[in-house]
Amino acid sequence: MGSYLQILALVVIGIVLLWLGYSLFLGPLSPFFPGIFFRKRYDGPESKIGTPGDPQVCPVCSTKLMRGELVKSHAYPSVTGGKDRLMHIQGCFACLQGSMQRKCPVCGIILYQNDYLISRMFERSHTRNHVHVLGCNHCRKAGRMR
Ligand SMILES: [Zn+2]
Ligand SMILES: [Zn+2]
Repeated sequence: MGSYLQILALVVIGIVLLWLGYSLFLGPLSPFFPGIFFRKRYDGPESKIGTPGDPQVCPVCSTKLMRGELVKSHAYPSVTGGKDRLMHIQGCFACLQGSMQRKCPVCGIILYQNDYLISRMFERSHTRNHVHVLGCNHCRKAGRMR
């Protein structure tokens, strides 16, 4: 009789543990919760498309960037010694991964992963840096600074 109760208790504990594990790994608080993928897909790419030229929008694929998401770029020291610097923009996380179409906002050509945009960055001491896209490496010949 005692062993029967012991087995019953073990089964109950087992079920509780299984349920706990299930809710931990597949519950809404879990990073493995399938819902986050559905939610991302439900948002769709439309709501993530921003206005090109906005400070928090990738100039290559127009993806709205979340806080902390950066556009991969390389700034060169100013040739003229002024406040504007030449900058090559490779793109953001989304378009470097290949999930977004990469496009030059100046000539409209489709850009490959190793293509980049040539832009001028104006450093401002108090406000955000202003970036002006001049073109891509196809429509903007390298070496032409202006
Ligand atoms: Zn992008
Ligand atoms: Zn271009």
